[in-house]
Amino acid sequence: MTIVDTASATLTGGPSLPQERRLVTAIPGPESRRRMERKTQAVAAGVGTTIPVFAAAAGGGVLVDVDGNSLIDFGSGIAVTGVGNAAPRVVEAVQAQVAQFTHTCFTVAPYDSYVEVAEALNRLTPGDHAKRSALFNSGAEAVENAVKIARHYTGKQAVVAFDHAYHGRTNLTMALTAKNQPYKSGFGPFASEIYRAPLSYPLRDGGLSGAEAARRAILHIEKQVGAENLAAIIIEPIQGEGGFIVPADGFLPALADWAAANGVVFIADEVQTGFARTGAMFASEHFGIVPDLVVTAKGIAGGLPLSAVTGRAEIMDAPQVGGLGGTYGGNPLACVAALATIETYEQEGLVERARQIGRILFEKLGALRDADARVAEVRGFGAMVAIELVHPVTGEPDAALTSRVAAAAHAAGVVLLTCGTYGNVIRFLPPLSMPDHLLVEGLDIVADALASIGTVTA
Ligand SMILES: *Cc1c(COP(=O)(O)O)cnc(C)c1O
Repeated sequence: MTIVDTASATLTGGPSLPQERRLVTAIPGPESRRRMERKTQAVAAGVGTTIPVFAAAAGGGVLVDVDGNSLIDFGSGIAVTGVGNAAPRVVEAVQAQVAQFTHTCFTVAPYDSYVEVAEALNRLTPGDHAKRSALFNSGAEAVENAVKIARHYTGKQAVVAFDHAYHGRTNLTMALTAKNQPYKSGFGPFASEIYRAPLSYPLRDGGLSGAEAARRAILHIEKQVGAENLAAIIIEPIQGEGGFIVPADGFLPALADWAAANGVVFIADEVQTGFARTGAMFASEHFGIVPDLVVTAKGIAGGLPLSAVTGRAEIMDAPQVGGLGGTYGGNPLACVAALATIETYEQEGLVERARQIGRILFEKLGALRDADARVAEVRGFGAMVAIELVHPVTGEPDAALTSRVAAAAHAAGVVLLTCGTYGNVIRFLPPLSMPDHLLVEGLDIVADALASIGTVTA
């Protein structure tokens, strides 16, 4: 069966799409409903969808569906399209490359764009020490490789991850990820030599300072693992799926100092926080840390699949020739897209744009918090900001309210994502190409949705 498309087949995406919210049907509309039925028959049930509308085009700050609805995009495909969908430089670079060659396998016959991406990452990531990079396909694959590299370099095996962590869905990264449902349940056994330490979570750890939370974590690691066994600590500077948790000041530097003093590789998983998203090129900069290894993916290539590990030359060069790589890692289409994407971040001042977006997010969501006791906290940096929703009296996480707010926003034409260990966090990840008027309109819709829903949890 072929779906004969309507007008959407020839729709061109990118920033020239009308930058407006426009609903012409209910969400989802009849065309999306038809396709969702077909999806159910063809695609494995475990592959879910947040909002059941099928995409026809996207760009700037909107996603246009197959019914002709234009939705405000507060998700960026989970923090991927920082430069916007179908960003002009990316489109041009990929179109030129696809006609030249699509694949040689870098480890068979290399090409310039891979090396140029490595150079750009070595230049942009924190620290001015000698660096090397290696490219992969997904965030999880890069996390796995960072662990491989750290183990090889240190000759040790244990790895510490943190409460609420999310590092991916492959076997090793499931072991690193904290949350059981839906990421781990039924998928064991998990990789061994993975240990979990307590995080700094200011809203929920009784007001521990960053230094106190770090002392707690370090004591836990020393007593339960031992630095002599520990290859690496891996941490998201601001946690993504775990709930956009910003650790208290001093937590990350204390961990990084302890790692450096104990021969432990400090790995920052910047897969979600990287590339201008937080109002800095990398979130580590906000905390004054220089990780030994930085893992990147999502925002790196304007939507093409690419990921990387970048770090100290002596660590990165430790594994033997042939020990790192893969058939598709650093595919030429993804590499030229990454070069165009990085040029866009730098030429269009998107680090500063993320800060401007952050000011609007904090102003509007701060007013919401002040007016509604169910908004326990507004937190984040730049264009990576979240609200945590709780029962106004008990302070208990309110996941039911959170999913109802998200559903109401979806129905009103806003692509809105939730997250958090307790499912009670609404996250805002607009593309940095979103104009202010759409940002404000989308935030007003979320505020109206929250106001219209009474407290759900008794
Ligand atoms: C999304 C994410 C990953 C996994 O990336 P994939 O490309 O989905 O494999 C790893 N770490 C963090 C912090 C992420 O947000």
